[in-house]
Parts: sequence; C-alpha cells; structure tokens
Amino acid sequence: MKKVLVTGGTGLVGNALKTIIDQSASGDEWIFVGSSQADLTDNNATRSLFERVKPTHVVHLAAMVGGLFHNMNNNLDFLRRNLQINDNVLQNAYEHGCVKVISCLSTCIFPDKTSYPIDETMVHNGPPHPSNYGYSYAKRLIDIQNHAYHDKHGCMFTSIIPCNIFGPHDNYKPEVSHVIPGMINRMYSLIHENTDVPESEKVFTVYGSGTPLRQFIYSLDLARLIIWVLDNYDSIEPLILSVDEENEVTIYEAAMAVAKAFDFKGKLICDTSKADGQHKKTASNRKLRSLLPDFQFTDFEKGVKASVYWYIDNIDKVRK
Ligand code: NDP
Repeated sequence: MKKVLVTGGTGLVGNALKTIIDQSASGDEWIFVGSSQADLTDNNATRSLFERVKPTHVVHLAAMVGGLFHNMNNNLDFLRRNLQINDNVLQNAYEHGCVKVISCLSTCIFPDKTSYPIDETMVHNGPPHPSNYGYSYAKRLIDIQNHAYHDKHGCMFTSIIPCNIFGPHDNYKPEVSHVIPGMINRMYSLIHENTDVPESEKVFTVYGSGTPLRQFIYSLDLARLIIWVLDNYDSIEPLILSVDEENEVTIYEAAMAVAKAFDFKGKLICDTSKADGQHKKTASNRKLRSLLPDFQFTDFEKGVKASVYWYIDNIDKVRK
C-alpha cells in the first residue's frame, strides 16, 4: 500500500487529485497538504512534515504559481521560492527513503526560440520566454535534480510537464490568476455590476491581441493522468501531459468559451496595449499517446462550462 504525500494539495491540481481519489476505490493512503501545514521554503518545516507523514510516494505540486502578469513582475521571487521548495522537497524525499517522486514542470518553461511541436527532449535547449524566466529556470532545475538524485542515489524522481491547466478550485485573484480563471472572474463581475446597463451593451476586454495559441487541460483529466503516472511510469525522463496539438485554441476562442458558459450577451474586444506573452508553445503529447493511446480528454467547452458553474456555485469561497 502506498502512502502518497501531495504537496500543493490545496491548489487547483491538488483539489482535482483529491476529487478523483475520493471517487476511486484505491486502497492507498493520500495526504494533501498546503502551506499552512508546512511552509516548504523552510527546510525545518519540510523535514518535520516528512517525519510526521512518512510518505512512500510524493506528488510534488507545491509552487509559487501565477499568470503572465504576475510572473513578469516577480521573476526573482518565482526563482528563489521555487528553488527553495523543490530543493527541500526532493532532499527530504531522498532522506526519508521515498520510493517515487513526481514533480510538476510546465510547457511554459520551454525555450522561447524553438521548433514546434515541443517535446520532452527540448526542455534545456535555450532561454525561456523573458516574461517568466524565474519560474522557468527553477522548474527546469527539477529535471536536473532528478537526474542527479538518480545518478548519485538511484532515486526514481521524475517529472510531468502539463500544458495550461484550468478547472474548479483555480486561483481567481486578479493580480495572480492564469488566463481562464482571470477571465471567469472578470466576466462574472462585469455581468453582476451596473445591473441598470443591459447586458447586451456591456463590453468584455480580452487582454492582448487574442491571437496567442494555447493548449488547455482540464484539471480532473490531469489528475487521472497523474495517478496513471504514479502507478505506471517508471522513468526519470519528463513526460508531457497535454491535450492533442489539434486542440490548441486562441486566447480569443478561450474567451468565447467562457462567454458561452456564462451565456454572456455583450461584446468581446481585444486590448492590444496589454502583453501577449509567448505566441505559442505547442507541445507534442506523442510520448503520452504511445503509452496511453486511448485516454479521452474532456471537451474544452465542456470543461470551461463545468469550471464556470463551479465558480458560480462557490462564489463565496473562491480564491479571489
Ligand atoms: P495553485 O496556485 O492552485 O496551488 C499552489 C499550491 O502550492 C497550493 O496548494 C499552495 O498552498 C502551495 N504552495 C505554494 N507555496 C507554498 C509553500 N511555500 N509551502 C507549501 N506549499 C506552498 O497551483 P496549481 O495547482 O495550478 O499548480 C500545481 C502545479 O502545477 C505547480 O507545480 C505548477 O507549477 C504546475 N503547473 C500549473 C499550471 C497551471 O496552469 N495552473 C500549468 C503547468 C504547470 P496554499 O494554497 O495552502 O498556500
């Protein structure tokens, strides 16, 4: 029986994992922790967490996470905090004899100047986009650490590389949020403020040109894949967990999906004075498909609808 410690267990992905585990008949024990149980930038707190829990396996999700604008303004903090968290978690997992650790990278850490589609062999092939270099280099070093722990101690520490994630329990704080939760939060406010103005006259602003392309994975799909990785993937090399390339959408199309889910009757316009970030980061899921050919991803519009409904149902307790 496994005893699985999930760091970052209170976040978007941690909550999705909890939902899937609660629905399954797994005999394994899962422990979900957030920063109030242990600040993982602090090695003493991390060590006492491992001493308390005594995990056999770790799904390491905890990180300083944020959207484009939060990254652009805080590269130093993203670099330092994530380096500290990752170093403390991996070293304690080693010292406490954990059998396996899965850590989370991201498709947004890949080189800015690259050929497409991006695959797992290209993580270190050149500098990341300047908007998020702090987060990117800290995340890339997890892959280096995994190799070094394997070389020195034979550890099975591996990593997954999800594309953009969205779903219930996202972070909707305007200064921090990723694009989909940011749009959900802003569109809800637009609809519910100034109710004397007819909705058909309201205008929703999409930040940037609306043309950048992104792959989005629904958090509950990612959770199912993480459980599969835990049980079946025994390589230290990273594995991209992304929807298929043909399911890439523009930011404007993502905004239209949010508008459709809200049944928003107003107009959408693009504010090109706002940054676009990297134009695209198309990732290949060919390696995943070779291992798990039949995995069914949730339709994008359906996932957005479920996320919007979750947000509306939980409006009093969402992170915003
Ligand atoms: P969230 O922002 O929703 O959650 C972050 C989690 O990390 C929370 O549980 C938070 O705890 C915890 N955390 C942050 N700082 C600390 C700390 N100092 N000590 C302990 N715990 C801490 O993130 P996501 O669920 O979106 O992300 C999960 C993983 O997926 C991350 O590694 C992220 O880099 C990666 N990822 C995310 C993507 C996305 O689009 N969201 C895309 C690709 C990868 P608390 O809330 O209790 O403070």
